[in-house]
Amino acid sequence: MNTPVMAAASAPVIGPPLWLLAEVTYRCPLHCVFCYNPLDFAATGKGQELSTEDWLRVLREARALGAVQCGFSGGEPLERDDLEELVAEAHRLGYYTNLLTSGVGLSDARAAALKAAGLDHVQLSFQDSTRELNDFLSHTKTFSLKQQVGERIKAHGWPMVMNVVLHRLNIDHIDRIIAMAEALGAEYLELANSQYYSWAHLNRDQLLPTSDQIRRAEAVTDAWRQKLEGRMRLFFVAPDYHEGRPKKCMNGWGNVFLTVTPDGTALPCHTAKMLPGLSFPNVREHGIAHIWRDSEGFNRYRGTGWMKEPCVSCPDKEKDLGGCRCQAFLLANDPEAADPVCPKSPHHAQVMQAVQAADAGRGIERPLVFRDPKNSRSLMGAPD
Ligand code: SF4
Ligand code: SF4
Repeated sequence: MNTPVMAAASAPVIGPPLWLLAEVTYRCPLHCVFCYNPLDFAATGKGQELSTEDWLRVLREARALGAVQCGFSGGEPLERDDLEELVAEAHRLGYYTNLLTSGVGLSDARAAALKAAGLDHVQLSFQDSTRELNDFLSHTKTFSLKQQVGERIKAHGWPMVMNVVLHRLNIDHIDRIIAMAEALGAEYLELANSQYYSWAHLNRDQLLPTSDQIRRAEAVTDAWRQKLEGRMRLFFVAPDYHEGRPKKCMNGWGNVFLTVTPDGTALPCHTAKMLPGLSFPNVREHGIAHIWRDSEGFNRYRGTGWMKEPCVSCPDKEKDLGGCRCQAFLLANDPEAADPVCPKSPHHAQVMQAVQAADAGRGIERPLVFRDPKNSRSLMGAPD
């Protein structure tokens, strides 16, 4: 456990929250099997979402504290009718604004309105390069629409930024995925392997790629990097399970990122609400400055003062800050443990076993659980 003495001895300097992630809604027409929204997202319906005035206040307070980048995310942020108003205020305040979207709802009229509101950047997600798998993984018929939205993004003068979450079922299509991004004129393609939280954790045995798949995908990406000669930037993120070393999650707890969820809960990372024994403040009750600097939720895992062995005496502790707290909780049932992807963790065998099972093709018989309100309610034990 943290003690006030330990925390004071290594109290980190608190800078500004540079990145505000506004998760304006959990409503989403897609049902992706790897979604990072919480399993109980259905408990936060339209009626529980922050009002327009609440969001405008959050934007102003976070900007006053030093935030420079604002991402509008969800769910599908275009489900909010007031998105243009929020983007316009964020632009007026001087944020660099991003829209992270599935593309559903980005009609020509809304694209024009968002452009007029000052939106700087759109990130469009695809599930795969084939209609069949794109539509299967999202449980919707959205492949053609996403292609049209890709063209619309270019037509409105935004840089074309594409994101594809990779996993066992689509990673072997990476060559075609990159070719599709090139054909759509993407300037930047994020090939982010799924990390295993929330719905992806629930479906991990079906989604974790084999070691060979990762190696092949990295080789294909490298070959494309040479072929493209800088015309499109490719960003490949391997799964933590295969990396064999922990990452400085969110660039450090309460260090750069401030996430506000649809009901106003403020989090240092978008999955942190799962952690037990920790209460997170709500923007309906507290100002952003108090939340960022003084709340228990944002201070508990800041810096290194909370660590125990093996992290506390590790020479790499400043480099990775002990890795991801959510992964420690999910795999070691202890949010204060070293991230089990670290070979020094006493729980590392679990990660190795999952990778070995993936390599051996075991454990993929169960059906995938799609992220939809019915499954969410059933996971919460609530009636349909
Ligand atoms: S991952 Fe899929 S289901 Fe989840 S918010 Fe994004 S588009 Fe919607
Ligand atoms: S023991 Fe802890 S601090 Fe050291 S590398 Fe592993 S996770 Fe990082």
